[in-house]
Amino acid sequence: MNDAVRPGTGWPGDPATAQTPVAGTAADVRSLASNAVTLDEVAARVSVCRACPRLVAWREQVAHERRRAFADQTYWGRPVPSFGDPDPRILVLGLAPAAHGANRTGRMFTGDRSGDWLYAALYRAGLANQPSSVAADDGLTLRGVRISAPVHCAPPANKPTPTERDACHPWLERELRLLWPRVRVVVVLGAFGWSTLWPSLASAGVPVPSRRPPFAHGAEVEVDGRTVLGCYHVSQQNTFTGRLTEPMLDAVLDRAAAVAGLSG
Ligand code: SF4
Repeated sequence: MNDAVRPGTGWPGDPATAQTPVAGTAADVRSLASNAVTLDEVAARVSVCRACPRLVAWREQVAHERRRAFADQTYWGRPVPSFGDPDPRILVLGLAPAAHGANRTGRMFTGDRSGDWLYAALYRAGLANQPSSVAADDGLTLRGVRISAPVHCAPPANKPTPTERDACHPWLERELRLLWPRVRVVVVLGAFGWSTLWPSLASAGVPVPSRRPPFAHGAEVEVDGRTVLGCYHVSQQNTFTGRLTEPMLDAVLDRAAAVAGLSG
């Protein structure tokens, strides 16, 4: 039932090859993350990871069954690596790929309503070259922004278990270590990303507050000379209900751009 894209078979943006080492356990993730030297190496290793049996089964089942609207498409069906500027001043941290969005297209927040919201807002803020994001080869580029997630595989019901969250943690920690010298702002979309950021920063060697700041939309916390901003997640649950509006999202991204020196 594994209809996932095989590494090195020409999928646009596929960072892996047939030789990329595959993590099969949480211990493998710790080892392969800790000795990944570059962001490209992290992305390649993330994209072939098989450490969480439930998520591997789910992402591949979804890729096999597909949604009716996408029945003629090939699904990525693998972990989705981070996307965007390799030398970012702004890091955006979400939750996990969506089953028929990034798990289908292979690129963060691409091909679903959440991505429509996020990329349109990044475009309005002058941080993306186009407002839409439909496929990995659609020409989208980000200016000074990189998008990551604490869990890189699509989880059933968008709910990773604590074990899965912890298994994926070393990928984020490694990415934070590599990015931190340049990053000025972290925009965290939702409470899940917020709660995972702090231990990830701490294990990446960043001095964090002894008491974890509570998540709130518009929260702003200074950490190690950087600014962490809280924002409601761009999920349909929030955008359809009006809990998160375009002006609310724009205000957070405008603030991030201003702090990062990327306004205008
Ligand atoms: Fe690997 Fe993370 Fe996916 Fe688990 S969630 S299989 S650790 S990439």
